[in-house]
Amino acid sequence: MSTVAAVSTPNAAGGISVIRISGEKALEIAEKLFKPFGTKRVSDMPGHTCAYGRIVSGKDVLDDVLLTVFRAPRSYTGEDTAEISCHGGIYVTRRILREVISLGAEPAAAGEFTKRAFLNGKLSLTQAEAVADIISADGKNALASANLMHEGVLFREIKAVSDGLVGLLGALAAWTDYPDEDLPETDPATILKTLRESEASLEKLLSTYDSGLVFREGIDCAIVGRPNVGKSTLMNALLGYERSIVTATEGTTRDVVEETLRLGDVLLKISDTAGLRKASDEVEKIGVKLANRALERAQLVFMVLDGSEELTDSDREILEKLRGRRCIVIINKSDLPQKLHKEYINADIILEVSAKEHLGVEKIRDEVYKMFGLSGVADNPTLFVNERQKLCCDRALENIRRAAAALESGETLDAVTVCIDGAAEPLLELSGEKVSEAVVNDVFSRFCVGK
Ligand code: GDP
Repeated sequence: MSTVAAVSTPNAAGGISVIRISGEKALEIAEKLFKPFGTKRVSDMPGHTCAYGRIVSGKDVLDDVLLTVFRAPRSYTGEDTAEISCHGGIYVTRRILREVISLGAEPAAAGEFTKRAFLNGKLSLTQAEAVADIISADGKNALASANLMHEGVLFREIKAVSDGLVGLLGALAAWTDYPDEDLPETDPATILKTLRESEASLEKLLSTYDSGLVFREGIDCAIVGRPNVGKSTLMNALLGYERSIVTATEGTTRDVVEETLRLGDVLLKISDTAGLRKASDEVEKIGVKLANRALERAQLVFMVLDGSEELTDSDREILEKLRGRRCIVIINKSDLPQKLHKEYINADIILEVSAKEHLGVEKIRDEVYKMFGLSGVADNPTLFVNERQKLCCDRALENIRRAAAALESGETLDAVTVCIDGAAEPLLELSGEKVSEAVVNDVFSRFCVGK
């Protein structure tokens, strides 16, 4: 395999940058560029050691750096690897990378180091995917899941299921291929038991997929209610309560205001659809249209009412519009004398809060967690499969169920074998034990360059 190099740290000025070189010629290239302050040559450096020295190009001294050497197979990629830690300036980092490339390294593609680690058997495919998940995790639960996957928990669970199925296939094949050999006939009850156990394991893995998606991607949420009920105050209270605004993109006053805030460990992408009122002019009509679109897209709606006033026709109209939607009705201004009659509100979840006084606001988090089934998984490290892994599990599960049905309805063992084969294949693809190049390339294309 060729020798590749890339900057592994972000493309920005910082304390240090790391340039990683991996492949057969990595140490040879490092030796040409790096002049140690001590007497030790790069070729004499044992793996997992570093040396202090200079990067020199012709007569030019480029930087004082630390060089770390890893020798195959004891490196991240499984190949000889050199890492140059230089000062974190954009120019100096790029300049050193250019020197490395001029000495024969190729620029590494996105995720190439981790791809090599996979191809060299250092990581399973799911462990490699976990590396990307660790980098992108922006909450406690997403990180815990990524770490479980990185430890190989998913790989082992999938391997246990696929080993069981492959074992069945072996027994079935021996029995059909050598009918005269007096092999014990594979007992349908034993096959069924293995199929049911495999089904249960995959169902358990898939059961947390939706929660994982919520922890990874957040929830699209719309906040609705007529003017002055306290929507902005509530948003501020939620922000103040959690104290971690992530982004704030403000449109025009007639536009939809979008904010992302963290509720517990979940990102809420909130659209303030103030424009839901009836439009009186053309510009406002556009605002209303945008607001309606944000509302349609929302996975969750906060409907805010003013508890110090009676329910108005406009409130009823909005409530009617939200029927059948995942919605939390928030009766605001609980600190004032209450005039609103809750009994007239047809909604599953009604909370009374005072956004201004910060009373009851924390109940909103609890309800959101309950609604999205997060309460159970939030407190324990839980493994969340990603989209690719889910699709593989789905395909396997479908075939396992087909095999069980075929067995129970007394179909031939050949038919059962075909289904079990169809179940084992996507699991081997999931773990990376038997996977096409296209799938591997697709997985690693999602990585950043330098990882
Ligand atoms: P929006 O138009 O729905 O965004 O409403 P605002 O958040 O701008 O609030 C309208 C008015 O209601 C402001 O004067 C707020 O101070 C007031 N308000 C908001 N929440 C509360 C509350 O919980 N209690 C009281 N007493 N006043 C509130």
